[in-house]
Amino acid sequence: MNARTGLDLVIVGAGFAGLYMLHRARRLGLAARVYEAGSGVGGTWYWNRYPGARCDVESLEYSYGFDEALQQEWQWRERYAAQPEILSYANHVADRFELRRDIQLDTRVSAATWDEAERCWRVSAGAGAPVAARFLVMATGCLSSANVPQIQGRESFAGKSYHTGQWPHEKVDFRGLRVGVIGTGSSAVQSIPVIAEEAAQLYVFQRTATYSAPAHNAPLDADFVAHIKSDYAGLRARNRRMPAGFGSNMPRDEGSALAVGAEDRARAYEACWQRGGLGYLRAFADLILDQRANDTAAEFVRGKIRATVRDPAVAQLLLPKQTIGCKRMCVDSGYYETFNRDNVHLVDISRSGIEEITPRGLKAAGREYELDRIVFATGFDAMTGALLRMKIRGRGGLTLKDKWTAGPRSYLGLGVAGFPNLFIITGPGSPSVLTNMIVSIEQQVEWIAGCLDFLRAQGRSRIEASGVAEDQWVAHVNAVAANTVYPTCNSWYLGANVPGKVRVFMPLVGFPPYAEKCNEVAARGYEGFALC
Ligand code: FAD
Ligand code: NAP
Repeated sequence: MNARTGLDLVIVGAGFAGLYMLHRARRLGLAARVYEAGSGVGGTWYWNRYPGARCDVESLEYSYGFDEALQQEWQWRERYAAQPEILSYANHVADRFELRRDIQLDTRVSAATWDEAERCWRVSAGAGAPVAARFLVMATGCLSSANVPQIQGRESFAGKSYHTGQWPHEKVDFRGLRVGVIGTGSSAVQSIPVIAEEAAQLYVFQRTATYSAPAHNAPLDADFVAHIKSDYAGLRARNRRMPAGFGSNMPRDEGSALAVGAEDRARAYEACWQRGGLGYLRAFADLILDQRANDTAAEFVRGKIRATVRDPAVAQLLLPKQTIGCKRMCVDSGYYETFNRDNVHLVDISRSGIEEITPRGLKAAGREYELDRIVFATGFDAMTGALLRMKIRGRGGLTLKDKWTAGPRSYLGLGVAGFPNLFIITGPGSPSVLTNMIVSIEQQVEWIAGCLDFLRAQGRSRIEASGVAEDQWVAHVNAVAANTVYPTCNSWYLGANVPGKVRVFMPLVGFPPYAEKCNEVAARGYEGFALC
């Protein structure tokens, strides 16, 4: 405990990561405080209130597994829960574990400076004086820093505009209006079918066509839920052995897509398509490893788009060309079908982008589109954005921004050389966004809690990743990615969606070997970290 402030730990962010970190810190008897910029808990699910927002990992799996009573008592209503239900769940967790008294809402952390003499972090949160704490945990989220593109004339638009990740709390009424949606990633794919039902005219501005699998969302069947809950711990354990931390109960083929004939392959893809969701990419084991295998899965989806969209010219524009899965695959409820509506218009901006936003609408593809509302479904400055928005100064005054000029560097995604006693949850260099993120969050929070307990038991007050361990880890993350198809397209995994951002593949592919490595590091007395 820090003598001046009484704080062992400052946690930044009150999403699923921050909430669980606080709970585990309390269980260790540590004094912790959470600072959260928003006016409520829930993180992603507090901010992303756009129409159609829901999870793309099934609700029964996209939830905490650390507490048996919690997972038994919470009743998910749908296969893929909608945003309000997930937000209620986050609030339920905050109440059930009495977390709120240590959470300060409406408080943005702007800076944190390591004080080597006192061995503590001095954290500037809100308008108050800096607070000292021995440890600092960044639970700031990978997809929490909105990417609002700097399009000329943006401020001049006379109508209202929204970013999906900063959606208003009151219902946005699109009835009778001309609406433009910029983007065709997951947020757009979820919101477009819902907005289309309300708007008079909907214009979708597409830079890159997207692959999306049907969700086949539906109310959860009581017998299925009872079956899962009869061995919930077993499902969670099996999921932790899956490459992406979910889907152990999905049918999957461990072989190659190229080892079977065209008819068997089509049958396997069709079965996954009918089951719905992200499991489509599980149809064969080598879809993200082998480009030729991947091409077969991509072509199957293109066939589905051609069969769904009635106007052949529109269907042609909707056909994605990039490697399937190298941008996160979307999961939808009626996305492609929406382009059969008379009030929905697809605008191809792949050549020249959006030229300008004007008071009356926007100019693209050589004409001005008159609009009453613009929805920016343009994604996030992912993985590093929220961290680099703060001024984090480590040992010797080194800023994290300077340290990461050539791209993020970390050891295990958890620690950064030069930044003692700083932990990042789902940081670059860890599996995070390539997994069911709640599984990754639980694994990392538990590792950090174990580490804090170990340090206390050993009478140590300082831990820092070594430069050598960090270099080796960065090389490992790159080597693993190079054996996959992930680096082959301009995705946010690479930072390619934000102009000027360094292109480095940020997450680590594969959850089980990562978790095993973290356990080994801990078992060897936090190998690769310097303790004192
Ligand atoms: P977040 O939920 O992002 O929380 C971080 C919090 O930190 C935010 O509330 C933010 O306000 C706060 N914060 C950031 N910087 C500061 C600061 N400087 N000071 C104070 N507070 C700060 N993942 C899945 O695995 N499955 C899904 O189905 C899924 N669906 C998603 C749907 C959407 C629309 C989006 C955007 C993401 C989705 N994700 C999904 C990823 C999702 O972000 C994670 O699953 C998870 O919710 C992340 O939790 P977190 O606590 O790490 O971060
Ligand atoms: P995204 O995947 O990054 O998609 C952003 C879209 O906006 C892309 O189509 C992009 O085009 C386009 N875009 C960006 N800048 C543009 C510009 N200047 N001009 C024109 N178009 C532009 O963002 P997202 O849809 O918010 O999703 C981000 C991640 O959050 C997802 O990958 C997923 O991990 C998570 N998420 C999950 C769900 C879910 O289903 N549960 C829902 C939403 C989000 P380009 O492709 O050409 O860059």
